Amino acid sequence: MSKIIIAIDGPAGSGKSTIAKMVAERLNFTYLDTGAMYRAITYLALQKGIIENEEAVNKLVKALEVSLKYENGVTRVFVNNDEVTDFIRSPEVNSKVSEIAAMPQVRKELVRMQQQMGKVGNIVAEGRDTTTVVFPNADLKIYLDASVEIRSERRHKEYLEKGVEIDIEEVKNNIRKRDKIDSSRKTSPLKKAINAIEVDSSHLSVEEEFEILFENIKKKIELIKSQINK
Ligand code: C5P
Repeated sequence: MSKIIIAIDGPAGSGKSTIAKMVAERLNFTYLDTGAMYRAITYLALQKGIIENEEAVNKLVKALEVSLKYENGVTRVFVNNDEVTDFIRSPEVNSKVSEIAAMPQVRKELVRMQQQMGKVGNIVAEGRDTTTVVFPNADLKIYLDASVEIRSERRHKEYLEKGVEIDIEEVKNNIRKRDKIDSSRKTSPLKKAINAIEVDSSHLSVEEEFEILFENIKKKIELIKSQINK
């Protein structure tokens, strides 16, 4: 049996999660939402009032284990055995998560957990640095992008659908801020892997984006299978 890893990278609101879930479901692969793990740590740090204290956050992340369970389109997130799924996508977590994700020790621990999860194979891993650091040897690397305006509109729509009233300008500012922190941080900055397939979805529907990518994925999987059978 082959153990295929597909890694999907890109900035906030580029459609990574939607596409990653669609690919995982179509292939019957496991979906690995790495962002959910950074969000879980951010939520806990906020709860404990240690968000500005890197040393305390380092201690926290070393002392716990984050696990994921993908069910019916939703990634359920557990810290040790406590479920935090409902709390990790709040505007408060959104505005702090990039700061937590810039902490080298946090990244080290979470990357270790993600690589462990990847060992089962046949996964679609999604998140900044999945193509460059977590799975540099992924069988297929995909980099999704879209303009800041389009990404902000998508995030704004998601909030409204969840009943969260928020101004689109606030969403746009938050995305700009996260882009800046994610691309300029010292440890694993957001960047396109050299051999990644790049798709800009600014003018594509989700279905169009998916079809373009899935053609590439199918070809790659057929190639891997034919090499294994040689
Ligand atoms: O993908 P999502 O929006 O849930 O990610 C939240 C944040 O977590 C990102 O803005 C980024 O700062 C961080 N992140 C990261 N590395 C990953 C996944 C997410 O730094 N692999």
